[in-house]
Amino acid sequence: MGEYDNFLPRPTMEGFLRGVDLRSLKGLTEQEIKDAINSACEFFGIPYPVFVQDLSNFKFGSTMFVSIDPTSYGDDILYYNMNELAQLHVGTKEAFSLIMTHECGHRILQSIRFEGPYNGSWQGELAADFLMGCRAGLFNMPQISNVIEGLGKTQGSKSHPKGYLRANFIKHGLLIAQQIRNESRPVSIQDLLNEYGKHYQEMWPYIKKDEKEIYNLLERMRR
Ligand SMILES: [Zn+2]
Repeated sequence: MGEYDNFLPRPTMEGFLRGVDLRSLKGLTEQEIKDAINSACEFFGIPYPVFVQDLSNFKFGSTMFVSIDPTSYGDDILYYNMNELAQLHVGTKEAFSLIMTHECGHRILQSIRFEGPYNGSWQGELAADFLMGCRAGLFNMPQISNVIEGLGKTQGSKSHPKGYLRANFIKHGLLIAQQIRNESRPVSIQDLLNEYGKHYQEMWPYIKKDEKEIYNLLERMRR
């Protein structure tokens, strides 16, 4: 026992730089990031991913979910890029947790083969967006408005539908959540997915139109 007892253990250089980086550049601490991911997992009742990787300082690093075995949560990896997310108005713990809810939506849907544009990729995105809106509505997370604003501006691609569609599905999630709260009835993820399926049918004419438009655009770029 002595005068050195009050000194905290030294962080490793790697840990120190990571901590500094997370606070100064991205505004969230490592613990806040963990909490945000954890609460997103809890919403679906699924385990914390086996691997979470910060790609914020990688030029082409993207926020995404990757898995090899679609029947298991045991090899799920979450990647995030805070710089990319900042451009989408995601800068707070709540907004980050909402984006992680979108990614965890992909996790619970990983074994489902969706139909629709680009091997069902768009349908998977809209489902994940819808579920994110549901969580925001059920648990009163006002930061969803920033997420809607950010994602709503995106242009759309082969893998992702246009921003207005994404915003539409998030808002529909909020609406369904509000109905559930008004009726104060218990709800399962399956109930939410059924509601999603109905809305997808309603929106199909718009989705189909966009699919053609993006397909033609890509064709023109190829020539
Ligand atoms: Zn996605």
